[in-house]
Amino acid sequence: MPPIQHSEITLQEFETFGIDRLKLLMDLNYYHKTLNLSIKEIIEAGHFKQFMLKYMKDTKHDLKQSIIKDYYGHYILRLCFLKDNENMDLFCSLELMLLKLKFASIVNKNDKIQFLKDNSSLLNITDNMSEDDNLITLSQIQDQKLKDKYTKFYGVNSNNNANFETSILKLKFTKLIDILPSRTILLYKGYLYIPEHMQFNYLANVYSKNLKKELLKIVKYKLNNISVNESDRLIPIINHLNNNGSVLSNYNRKDFTNSNNGDELLSDEVYLPDTYNNYPLCMQNLLTGLRNDSHLKYQGRQQLSLFLKECGLNVEEALKFWQKAFQQKYGLEEFNKNYKYNFRHSYGLEGSRINFKPWDCSTILNKEPPSSGMYHGCPFRDWNKVKLSGYLSKSKNYYTKEELSKYEVNTILDFKDKNDYMMCCTKYFELTKDTLPHNELITHPNLYYQRSKELDKRKKIPETVEINENK
Ligand code: SF4
Repeated sequence: MPPIQHSEITLQEFETFGIDRLKLLMDLNYYHKTLNLSIKEIIEAGHFKQFMLKYMKDTKHDLKQSIIKDYYGHYILRLCFLKDNENMDLFCSLELMLLKLKFASIVNKNDKIQFLKDNSSLLNITDNMSEDDNLITLSQIQDQKLKDKYTKFYGVNSNNNANFETSILKLKFTKLIDILPSRTILLYKGYLYIPEHMQFNYLANVYSKNLKKELLKIVKYKLNNISVNESDRLIPIINHLNNNGSVLSNYNRKDFTNSNNGDELLSDEVYLPDTYNNYPLCMQNLLTGLRNDSHLKYQGRQQLSLFLKECGLNVEEALKFWQKAFQQKYGLEEFNKNYKYNFRHSYGLEGSRINFKPWDCSTILNKEPPSSGMYHGCPFRDWNKVKLSGYLSKSKNYYTKEELSKYEVNTILDFKDKNDYMMCCTKYFELTKDTLPHNELITHPNLYYQRSKELDKRKKIPETVEINENK
C-alpha cells in the first residue's frame, strides 16, 4: 500500500512518474558507474541532493506529493523492467544504488528509523520500530550476556570506549531464511544486532534479493492480466519506458532534426496517389490495413504515425487524419478518450514530452513480426513468398511502364531468402523507380519517401499496385 492514502493517479502522472524516476536512476548511475564516484563522493559533492531536487521539482516541496511520486515512480518502473533476467537485474541494481544513497545521506536517527519503516516489507523487518528501541549503542545494553556475546561475535575491543557509542541496529525480522546461513549477523532472543559498519551492505543485500523476487512474482502472476486489459492505455507507456532505459536516448536527442526539408503533409493528402506512391511497402501496408480495419493496433499506430510525422504531418493534421481513419469504429468522444493522448504523446506534447523519432528499418525489423490483424513490421520479411511475389510481379517499372519481370521479382526474393530485407527494399526501389544516389541502401522508411519524392519532382511516377489481400 502507498505510504499515503492516494488510490488514483492519472495516465499522464503514470508516465511522468516513471520517466522522471528513470532519468534520476540513469543520472545517478552515470555518476556512480561511468564517472566511478563512490556513494560517499556522490553525496559529499552534492550530486545526490541536486538530482533529488531535479527529480522532485514538480512536487513544489510538498512532502505528500514527493512521497507519492517516489512511491509510484518505483512501482511503475517495476512494471517496465520485466523483459528478461538482465533487464530485472538492471532495475534492481539501479534501485539498490538509490536506496544506498538515500540511506547513506540520512543523518538524523529518527529519519533513519522512518526510512527503515517505509522499506520494511522489502527489508524483511517489522515496521513497529522506534529510535530508542532500534537504534542503540553498546553502552545502552543492560543485558550483560548480550553485551558479552556482541563483543565476542564482532570482535569489539572493550578497552576502547568509542566502540561503546557507535550505533547498533536492532531489528526484529519477519523472515530469517536468507540471513541465518551466513552467520555474519548476531541473532539474540529474536532480534538481529547489526553494527554500524555492516548496516549498509547488509540491508542492501536483503533489499536486492527481495526486490528481484517481487519482480519475478509480477512476471508470473500479473503481467498477462495487465497486457490484456491495458493494451491501449498502460502498455504503450510501459513499452516506452522499458528496453533498458533506451527511452533516454530519445530523450537526450533534443537536437533531433527532421529530414523532411520543411515539407508539409496535410491529412487529406496522405492517401492521394502522388503521395502514397512515395511510401515504402511497409507504410503502404499499414495504410491499407488502416483503411480496411478502421483501426491499427499499438505497434502499427506507432510505426505509421511517427513516419507520417516525419513526412510533415503536424499534430493537428495528424489528429484529423487518425480521427477520420478510426471514425467507422470509434466516435469522436471515444477517440479523444482512448487515442488522442497516444498521438499527442508521439509528438512530444504529453507525458515525458519526448520528440519521438520515426523508426528506422533496423528498429522495425527488431520488433516481433505482426500476428493476425496487425500490420506493423516489414512486408519483405513478414509476407510469405507467394504473397510477396504476387505483389512484386504486379508492380511496374517507371520507365517502361511494364510489370517487373520474373527475373527481377526473383532477384528481390533471393534477398528475402538471405534475410536481407533492406536490400529487398533497395532493389525494389531501383527496379520500380530509379537507381539510388551513391549506391545508397534503404535503411529508413523516411529515406525511401524522401528519395522517391525527389524523383517525383522530376518525373511522374506510375501508379503503385494497391494492396488488398489479407495476410
Ligand atoms: S526495408 Fe525498411 S523501408 Fe523497406 S519495407 Fe522494410 S521496413 Fe519499410
